Amino acid sequence: MYYMRKAIEEAKRSIEHQDIPIGALIVYKNEVIASRHNEVELQQDVCAHAEILTIKDAAKVIGYKYLLDCSLYVTLEPCTMCAGAIVLARIPNLIYAASDPKTGACKSLYSITQDHRLNHRCNVVSGILEKESSALIREFFKNIRGIGNRESGIGNRESVVGSR
Ligand SMILES: [Zn+2]
Repeated sequence: MYYMRKAIEEAKRSIEHQDIPIGALIVYKNEVIASRHNEVELQQDVCAHAEILTIKDAAKVIGYKYLLDCSLYVTLEPCTMCAGAIVLARIPNLIYAASDPKTGACKSLYSITQDHRLNHRCNVVSGILEKESSALIREFFKNIRGIGNRESGIGNRESVVGSR
């Protein structure tokens, strides 16, 4: 709960640059070693998801590409790209808040992180602070609509949590 609350705080920083508020952090030996938020709009990079940025930072801190004994906390269910990176980084524990019925790849649409055909599987826990996390995203889209930014393309993912 404590770490997910920190991930939600991290997610809020996305709003400063009009990115969907999604935050992630990695815990190693009870310590947060990396914490990042969604920067897709900021960097104009579709790969700049919070999970990817966090995984890259954590590997630098540890000095090893595999994040063994780490736990990844993220405020929204990871997509196919991030779920793939989680498997490749061999992260043993994934904890996410809200499910994503449109792009979620850890339970909703696919179960990449638990697929026995792959060479690594995660323990996955979901629903921790789910309401807070999805409310943050819903609120973001409500404000986007309010300032008439809908055409900007950011609203394309509106359905993510809006449909709940
Ligand atoms: Zn992703």
